[in-house]
Amino acid sequence: MNIDAEIVSRKTSWSNWAGNQRAEDVSLFRPRTEEQLQKIVRHAVASNKRVKAVGSGHSFTAIGIAEEILVDLSNYDAVVSVDKARNTVTAQAGIQLSKLNQVLHQNGLAMQNLGDIAYQTIAGAISTSTHGTGINFTGIANQVTALRMVLADSSVVDCSLDSNAELFNCARVGLGALGLISTVTLQLVPAFNLKVIEEPMRVDELLTNLDRHVSENDHFEFFWVPHTGWALTKRNNRTTDAVQPMSRLSHWYSKTLMENYAFGAVCLLGRAKPSLIPKLAKALPSSGRNEYCDASYKIFASKRIVKFYEMEYAIPREACVEALNRVRRMVSDSGFFLNFPVEVRFTAPDEIPLSTASNRESAYIAVHIYKGMNYVPYFKEVESIMNSYQGRPHWGKLHFQNAQTLAPRYPQWDVFQGVRNLVDPNRVFSNRYTEIVLGK
Ligand SMILES: Cc1cc2nc3c(=O)[nH]c(=O)nc-3n(C[C@H](O)[C@H](O)[C@H](O)COP(=O)(O)OP(=O)(O)OC[C@H]3O[C@@H](n4cnc5c(N)ncnc54)[C@H](O)[C@@H]3O)c2cc1C
Repeated sequence: MNIDAEIVSRKTSWSNWAGNQRAEDVSLFRPRTEEQLQKIVRHAVASNKRVKAVGSGHSFTAIGIAEEILVDLSNYDAVVSVDKARNTVTAQAGIQLSKLNQVLHQNGLAMQNLGDIAYQTIAGAISTSTHGTGINFTGIANQVTALRMVLADSSVVDCSLDSNAELFNCARVGLGALGLISTVTLQLVPAFNLKVIEEPMRVDELLTNLDRHVSENDHFEFFWVPHTGWALTKRNNRTTDAVQPMSRLSHWYSKTLMENYAFGAVCLLGRAKPSLIPKLAKALPSSGRNEYCDASYKIFASKRIVKFYEMEYAIPREACVEALNRVRRMVSDSGFFLNFPVEVRFTAPDEIPLSTASNRESAYIAVHIYKGMNYVPYFKEVESIMNSYQGRPHWGKLHFQNAQTLAPRYPQWDVFQGVRNLVDPNRVFSNRYTEIVLGK
């Protein structure tokens, strides 16, 4: 049904980046204005339908599946204003982080921290608690200072710590379940450069000195390579040094050929003949040491061509070594052949009710499997380890939890539920995934 000449509306299908989630036969709306967002919600309520906004479809879970009305925000992606005195930016919800980063850089500004890609939209990224690494830095949602939302009654509400604070806190990681985010205001910092050191380390030695690595580096992460005793480490530190990027050839070799095409070929081979994986894995840590320096947004985000499925758990930081060692033992005892590294990152706590780092300093352990391979047995084994640390799954990455198992893991669970009941009592913004993880 056409509710406005500028809104596309037709029966369409949709699938996410990894290709493991699909929506069929849904009505597609591509709004360009906030007024159109309101009209969509009014139309949905009047016809008793559910609404789902999607960003770039980079969630692995069914969180982004529209069941009736799909709101694609790719035409609602402008920067509304940049305030250089306060170091803030306000942008429409559908802006991709890659576009936002460019605009910020041109204005001498940058986001404080980012995840490892920048394909996500700002609203999608915050809604699932997307984060990067750095024990003194939080996830992206905690960089938000204000939101403008279209609620189920089609009203537009401004919220921040100073007004509608409870809605603001909950909607920063709202799983798309509280309303349509219209605009997002972020606290930024002056643009900065990062000095990078990438090098393999023996994993046992690395774990012995883990606290030091995490505390001494602004942004520390590592990738343990299953079937080997090696980890690939990445240390990013803020610097006033001038940029000294990798040469184009080294960049292409390391970031495009090795991390994507060669790695993709190794994954394909491993999927065809899993027993080859342990031998193939031994080639990974031989990538040597790289040292370079570049603008922060270029360092944080990388290119991801090889498709995979992922599960990621946030656990208390102090449990990291024990939990990872249990994963290592499980892998060697299980006979799984794993062609993707296990990624480990760290963040500071925040106070956002459904943030995966809510009220605790966190370590994140992420496991991946090449697209097309059966992830269930491996992910379930890892999940059962994470359960013993009150692990919180990334809302956009695969897991097998439900509202009952999740509620005790979030000290402010009831606050979120109270706000949800208030702003969306009829569950206009629900889908099957939110029914499972939040309850009906
Ligand atoms: C290759 C790859 C790398 C990744 N790297 C990281 C990483 O480093 N760190 C990390 O934490 N995660 C990472 N992720 C996960 C990713 O950041 C999240 O899944 C993120 O939510 C995806 O953003 P999106 O724009 O694609 O949102 P989608 O997946 O499209 O949507 C996610 C949620 O946001 C909601 N939403 C979107 N727009 C709105 C709106 N306007 N109003 C209300 N709700 C809205 C949707 O309804 C849905 O509930 C990665 C994923 C992939 C595929």
